[in-house]
Amino acid sequence: MTSVTQPAILGGRPILAAPVMFAQPTVSSDATTLALLGEVLASGALTKGPQLTALEREIAEFLGVGHAVAVASGSAGLMLALRCLGVSGNIIMPSFTFMATAHAAVWNGLTPLFVDIDPDTLTVAPDSVSAALRAGAGAVMPVHVSGTPADTANIMDLAGRHNVPVIIDAAPAFGARYPDGRLVGTKGLAEIFSLSPTKSFTAGEGGIVATNDGHFAAELRVAREYGNPGDFDSAMVGTNGRMPELSAALARRNLARLDDVLDARRRLVARYRQALSCVAGLRFQRVPAGASSTFKDLSLTVSAEQFGLDRDTFARALAAEQIPTRQYFDPPVHRQTAYRHLAGSHPPLPNTERAAREVIVLPLYSHMPEAVVDQVVTAVARIHRHAEAIRAFAAAVDAGRT
Ligand SMILES: *Cc1c(COP(=O)(O)O)cnc(C)c1O
Repeated sequence: MTSVTQPAILGGRPILAAPVMFAQPTVSSDATTLALLGEVLASGALTKGPQLTALEREIAEFLGVGHAVAVASGSAGLMLALRCLGVSGNIIMPSFTFMATAHAAVWNGLTPLFVDIDPDTLTVAPDSVSAALRAGAGAVMPVHVSGTPADTANIMDLAGRHNVPVIIDAAPAFGARYPDGRLVGTKGLAEIFSLSPTKSFTAGEGGIVATNDGHFAAELRVAREYGNPGDFDSAMVGTNGRMPELSAALARRNLARLDDVLDARRRLVARYRQALSCVAGLRFQRVPAGASSTFKDLSLTVSAEQFGLDRDTFARALAAEQIPTRQYFDPPVHRQTAYRHLAGSHPPLPNTERAAREVIVLPLYSHMPEAVVDQVVTAVARIHRHAEAIRAFAAAVDAGRT
């Protein structure tokens, strides 16, 4: 029963003739960029040079923040920031995040105290932070999941009452805005960005620690230099956390066009959102009123009852249409092998468990043609229309497997 109206998983022709790219970096490779990279190579200064200094100045200016310290990666930024913070014990953080958030804590001898998320914004829920603060913690680390700002104002208020510092994993959120209109990067003791290629603003690899605390920034600059203040008498156990000059130069070029890149992403998301708003059971990650997201990931939750298929079967049906998806974050950090020993040390995480089961990330990159969005939308609608048949087919396949 092959027909053009059948979903590909049931034998129909895939909506797309070739696989869609799930994500792609949008990078400058114009003559100005190539000339700048050539200049760096010709200069012989491959690290600790003028590109780094210029990038740090330009980013501090862009964000409206006192200091931007460029580092080798988002992970390095998180690790160095926690090292300089010098706290011990528990650090409150969501489990619904990328593993690197928790790794940075453990590398510093801290214990992640996982708390639950808000089911709509998918970012850490202030009331669960509040409960965890009463149990005692050295720091709170909210995460701007998928590039959407966490409820930082409320969390800072709560943490302030316990005199606990807030340090923010802003890795995917460079260019996002808080509900009060300020750019992400301006709150907490520090906000840490990643400039890896999957983020909207990239240096190839790299990271930025943004802070208004001059003393903290100075410490970070020593920490990224092995802890060597300049006299080779190490003041602390640092590491090589530097961003190379070629990466800094590339980041400067990408910074110059960041607004265009983010505008393009937001237009594509609006198109997705408008077209999918009539499909029952699909819910977009909520961006708080007045805030903006970078949409590093286009995250939706799939309600199996309303949509007719669970997330995993939906993903299989999309894959058959040549549409790759991701399941961020499944498993959530607290159920990953490296963290299972912490089970029992944190409260139940029902919203996290549910998001891990229900969230699907659809393809998105800044230069994605609108026609591709429309094809993905067509595939989603077709799958939804045939949900019952797909459910039966998937059940039969799974039964045959066991
Ligand atoms: C990307 C990301 C990181 C890690 O950044 P790297 O530059 O890859 O080390 C950390 N936390 C979150 C939430 C991220 O999205």
